[in-house]
Amino acid sequence: EMFGQLTSGLEAAWSKVKGEELLTKENIVEPMRDIRRALLEADVSLPVVRRFVQAVTDQAVGLGVIRGVRPDQQLVKIVHDELVKLMGGEFSELVFAKSGPTVILLAGLQGVGKTTVCAKLANYLKKQGKSCMLVAGDVYRPAAIDQLAILGKQVDVPVYTAGTDVKPSEIARQGLEEAKKKNIDVVVVDTAGRLQINKSMMDELKEVKQVLNPTEILLVVDAMTGQEAAALVTTFNLEIGITGAILSKLDGDSRGGAALSVKEVSGKPIKLVGRGERMEDLEPFYPDRMAGRILGMGDVLSFVEKSKEVMQQEDAEELQKKIMSAKFDFNDFLKQTRSVARMGSVSRVIGMIPGMAKVTPAQIRDAEKNLQITEAMIEAMTPEEREKPELLAESPERRKRVAQDSGKTEQQVSQLVAQIFQMRVRMKNLLGVMEGGSMPALSN
Ligand code: GDP
Repeated sequence: EMFGQLTSGLEAAWSKVKGEELLTKENIVEPMRDIRRALLEADVSLPVVRRFVQAVTDQAVGLGVIRGVRPDQQLVKIVHDELVKLMGGEFSELVFAKSGPTVILLAGLQGVGKTTVCAKLANYLKKQGKSCMLVAGDVYRPAAIDQLAILGKQVDVPVYTAGTDVKPSEIARQGLEEAKKKNIDVVVVDTAGRLQINKSMMDELKEVKQVLNPTEILLVVDAMTGQEAAALVTTFNLEIGITGAILSKLDGDSRGGAALSVKEVSGKPIKLVGRGERMEDLEPFYPDRMAGRILGMGDVLSFVEKSKEVMQQEDAEELQKKIMSAKFDFNDFLKQTRSVARMGSVSRVIGMIPGMAKVTPAQIRDAEKNLQITEAMIEAMTPEEREKPELLAESPERRKRVAQDSGKTEQQVSQLVAQIFQMRVRMKNLLGVMEGGSMPALSN
C-alpha cells in the first residue's frame, strides 16, 4: 500500500477525536500531535509540517457542525483538503509548444530513473496521438545510450544517438534538427546525471538548455529520497530553472515525504509519477487523488461533501424559527420533504460507513415515491392554503379540490393535512426538550 505508514499514522489521529461533540482548541491538541508525528515520520520537511498543522488547526477549531457528520469525519475532510493544497491543488498539465516541436528536457541525478522515464514519457505521449523522438544525451554513463536505444525500440519511438564523444549540447542540437526534419511533435532529451549535484552537471545542463530552448524542463526525482527531494528540486530550479518534477519509483516503499514537500518548498509542481518499471507505469499526478489515497477514506470524504451540500445550515435555522413560532407551513413541509429525499443518495454513502445505520434501497425508493405524492398535493394548493394549513383543515371543499387537481384521493389529502399539524406538535415538543437542539429527523 502506497504511504501505508502515513495512512495508519493519521488513523491514530481520527480515533482520538471519536466521542467528541465538537472540535475545540483543547480536544484537538492530541489528534494534531498524531498528525504532526505521522507527517514527520513520512519524511515531510519540518517547516512544511509546521505550516500544515497550523492551517488544519485554524480551520478545525470553531468549525460549525454539519448535522449528521461526526467531528472526526470533519477533521478527515480538512486534512484532505489541506493535503491537496499542499501538493499544488490543481493537476499541472504538460505544456506543449504552439509551433515546432515541443522540447522536453529531463534532468536528474544518476539512478533516479531518468532514462526509463524518457521512454515512458514517449510511450505516454504516443498514446495521446503525438509523434515522439528520444535524444540520447547521457554521455556520462555509456550504458545509458544503449539502454535508451533498447527502450525506444520497445515503445516504437526513434532514438537519436551520437555516441559519447560528442558534447551533450551538440547532440541536443543535432537531435532537434533531425526532429524538425521529421516533423516530430515532441522531442524528449535525456541528459547526464551525477551521483550528487556538481558544477559540471549544471554547466552541461545550462548549455543544453540554451541550445534547445525547451518548453518543459522536468527534474526526475526518486520518491525514496524523502524530504531531500524538496531541496534537490529547489537547487535545480535555482540553477537551471525547471518547470516541474517527475516523481519516480512511487511504487517502492517511499514514505511520501517527497510527494508532499516538493511543491510547497520549491514552488514547482509534480507533473507526473512513475509507479513501476514497465513502460506503462507513468501517470499524471493528481493532488486530490493522491490525498485520497493517503487517507484511504474515499467514502468518508464524499459523505462529508454531500452532507454539506444537502444540509444548508441557514435553511435549517430558518425552519427551526418557523417551527418555534408554529408557522411551519406547507412550503416548509415541501422543502423539508425534498431534503429528506435528497438525503436518500447520502444514505447510500452512510451505509458504507461502519457503525452507521444502513438504509435499504427499498426505503430510499419509498422516500422518493412519497415525495412525488406530497409534491403533487402541495402544488395543487393555493399560495394561501400553503401558508395557512388551517384553511384546509376547516374546509372539506378545499380538500376535495386539492384531491381532484392533484389526482390523489381525499383521504390522502386529509392525511397530509393531519400530518402537518402532528408535525408541528411533535417538533415543538422535541424542541422544548433539546436545548438549542438541531432539527429532529422527520419520519412519515
Ligand atoms: P537513470 O540513471 O536516472 O537514467 O536511471 P535508470 O532509468 O537507469 O533507472 C535506474 C533503475 O531504476 C532501473 O533499474 C529502473 O528499472 C529503475 N526504475 C526506474 N523507474 C522506476 C519506477 O518508477 N519504479 C521502480 N520500481 N523502478 C524504477
